[in-house]
Amino acid sequence: MPKTDRFRAAIDAAHGKFRKLAEGRNADFIPALAKMDPGLFGIALVTVDGKTEEKGDAGSRFTIQSISKVFTLACALQEVGDEAVLAKIGADATGQAFNSIMAIEQTKGKEMNPFVNPGAIATTSLIKGRTPAEKWKRILGMHEAFAGRKLEVDQEVYRSESATNGRNRAIAVLMHSYGRLYADPLVTTDLYTRQCAISVSASDLAVMSATLANGGKNPVTGKRVIDSKYVPRILAVMATAGLYDDSGLWLYRTGLPAKSGVGGGIIAVAPGRFGIAAFSPRVDAAGNSVRARKAIEYITAALSANPYNTKSL
Ligand code: GLN
Repeated sequence: MPKTDRFRAAIDAAHGKFRKLAEGRNADFIPALAKMDPGLFGIALVTVDGKTEEKGDAGSRFTIQSISKVFTLACALQEVGDEAVLAKIGADATGQAFNSIMAIEQTKGKEMNPFVNPGAIATTSLIKGRTPAEKWKRILGMHEAFAGRKLEVDQEVYRSESATNGRNRAIAVLMHSYGRLYADPLVTTDLYTRQCAISVSASDLAVMSATLANGGKNPVTGKRVIDSKYVPRILAVMATAGLYDDSGLWLYRTGLPAKSGVGGGIIAVAPGRFGIAAFSPRVDAAGNSVRARKAIEYITAALSANPYNTKSL
């Protein structure tokens, strides 16, 4: 079968197989997320030569949530370099929930990674700019370069999370007290909350992950987005901590660097081959979309995309 037909067949099969699955429930700690239609289910795949395959609700908009951590990390790497990110944030799994305060206490804010909230908010604090507006421009600009189009913030979700994010503010202040947050904690938490509320579709996320699969050059726009030397760093953090405390389980099953968000999106990167994204709002106890996860696991197996499986080469 030609390559693109294989992609098409794998996506169609995954969508058909999990279409009726209703496990999990919408995240509700951000009240606006509870209102999303739980039946939505979309899958998109973009190859490193820019070909796109989609199925289901791939064009439906939802908030990027924690998947934004990948692109703000890209921004920080580009601005301060990989050694500074390692020294100031860390690159180790905490083994605890993404918003654990205990994890901060155990290490006094050290040995975090950019994908748990303390490390992610600290990563946002590294973004340069004289004013919050300037910093925001850089963060949003990086997301837009990855997606290849202008993006907007979902104001309802932003307001909903801003009104209920006491825990993230506490995390930021605590990190600051340990000298592990590098700008004003409340201003930074606000920027972080805004980045989580960026509105995207599975199609956007597939382009964003294909840009990582393609060494930092957007395969659709043809524009270089970040220096290729930083891509392996980002993929390493995705492999280590992309699916919260279920990251080991995910890597065991797929071998692919990935990142999830409580909005229901998951991206995964098959380096040198393709980026894939799936979206469905119902999440499991760790905060990972049940159907998105199963769909990507299925497609990875169908396409022999586990990079550790050298037999498939
Ligand atoms: N905005 C959410 C938070 O910071 C994102 C969490 C997530 O997607 N896991 O709590």
